[in-house]
Amino acid sequence: MKILQPYSFKKAWTYFLHALLLRCPTCGITPIFPSLKKTRSLRDWFTPLDGCHRCGYPYEREPGYFLLATWAGSYGMGSLIGLILYFTIDLKFHPPIFELLALVLIPVIAANLLLARHAKAFFIAFDHFFDPHEKEGGENDDDRPHRETPKPIAPVTPNAKRSVAFQKK
Ligand SMILES: [Zn+2]
Repeated sequence: MKILQPYSFKKAWTYFLHALLLRCPTCGITPIFPSLKKTRSLRDWFTPLDGCHRCGYPYEREPGYFLLATWAGSYGMGSLIGLILYFTIDLKFHPPIFELLALVLIPVIAANLLLARHAKAFFIAFDHFFDPHEKEGGENDDDRPHRETPKPIAPVTPNAKRSVAFQKK
């Protein structure tokens, strides 16, 4: 893996693309969320996997890690869309209040569902760019040669995915 310079445009662009594809910020290969086939509930949809099984990058660094992503990214963007829709529809068409509410609330709920994963993926990328996650040995993920692939101790299944532990190097 090529070593990316800290705070370079190339590194920011790489992380941006990885987040856009909902992939691990470091290797860009492993998905952050379970695939659609393995998504059985809203909880599966919203909850990232434990970490990357290729490079060992932990997606959720600490409890409550995604609070800002959820509130600012997902709810914030959803609210902004709702406000824009509300004023646009109300000023142009003056529909009755229940029609107006339906025309605003349905897209807002849909937007929140669709934006939730990307809000978290971009938060992971943003955080890793400005505060790179370091391994216990103090090595940066991007600077570490990827010769060995960490193997999961337990197989990753939809029900067991949150209890998967990764072998440390
Ligand atoms: Zn990775």
